[in-house]
Amino acid sequence: MTKEKISLVIPCYNEEDVLPYFYQAFCKEAEELPDYDLEAVFVNDGSADRTLELIKEYAEKDERIKFISFSRNFGKEAAIYAGFEKSDGDYVAVMDADLQDPPELLPQMLHAIKEEGYDSAATRRVTRKGEPPIRSFFARCFYKLMNRISTTEIMDGARDYRLMTRQFKEAIMQMKEYNRFSKGIFGWVGFQTKWIEFENVERKAGETKWSFWKLLKYSIEGIIGFSVAPLAIASVLGITVCIAAFIFLVIILIRTLCFGDPVAGWPSMTCIILMMGGIQLFCMGILGMYLSKTYLEAKDRPIYICKETNIE
Ligand code: UDP
Ligand code: MG
Repeated sequence: MTKEKISLVIPCYNEEDVLPYFYQAFCKEAEELPDYDLEAVFVNDGSADRTLELIKEYAEKDERIKFISFSRNFGKEAAIYAGFEKSDGDYVAVMDADLQDPPELLPQMLHAIKEEGYDSAATRRVTRKGEPPIRSFFARCFYKLMNRISTTEIMDGARDYRLMTRQFKEAIMQMKEYNRFSKGIFGWVGFQTKWIEFENVERKAGETKWSFWKLLKYSIEGIIGFSVAPLAIASVLGITVCIAAFIFLVIILIRTLCFGDPVAGWPSMTCIILMMGGIQLFCMGILGMYLSKTYLEAKDRPIYICKETNIE
């Protein structure tokens, strides 16, 4: 009887410090799951360090190691997509290289899919231990806002670490958008997902690639990609200002007619002009963001460019 295959997709960007630990953990996990063929699909996302060399070293001595290497850094989302395209396991998992996604959870995830009938098993952190408080605060705000304005549910603390059936993976690959936001994409495709909770684990080695600004940009990407509420906000703002202006007009009319008030009013005028200008620019900015995304999608560029791979 042939064994079922599990493909682990591992995006790697400058992970030379942590890869040896990861490879160790991978070999250990493969021993714990003797009933399955475990394969690792490393996606080298344009690393500038020895990441690719290390991966190639492993691939040479271990045929379970597959890799694909990009021509430059395309981002984690592109890496996940490429990994999906190149993996053919019966089950596919996305896992970070830094061991923040504990491989020990795999058996539990497999159980959820095989015994409990779920289509995917995803993980979420219940604590944010070891993370700067300001980052946790903004992360929480983001999830609250996102779930308010988007119809696709996004779980607070959800990681990209998840195991899924081949059918689930194929559904995700049908979403060929250029601006990818996995947390939303995973939710959008539907199916039954079991959430497995775990305590936050700190990076084994190396450094996080996410600066505050990168995270902010990522959140905006998520909001633009999965909600059109900001466009509605622009209209609501417009209407609100119109109504306020009308009320103000009535007040001024009455005041002038009853008490006569010939010259005063230029400070209020300045405020109103500035405020109107601000609101208009703000709304144009929102429109511009959607337009720019549309522009990028319309170009229909490839999500990634592969430079080298050992997968046929
Ligand atoms: N990563 C990537 N491309 C990037 C940034 C990150 O492939 O441009 C990979 C990285 O190598 C790691 C995973 O995505 O395996 C998560 O990155 P990181 O640990 O920096 O993020 P955090 O865990 O802090 O959210
Ligand atoms: Mg990490």
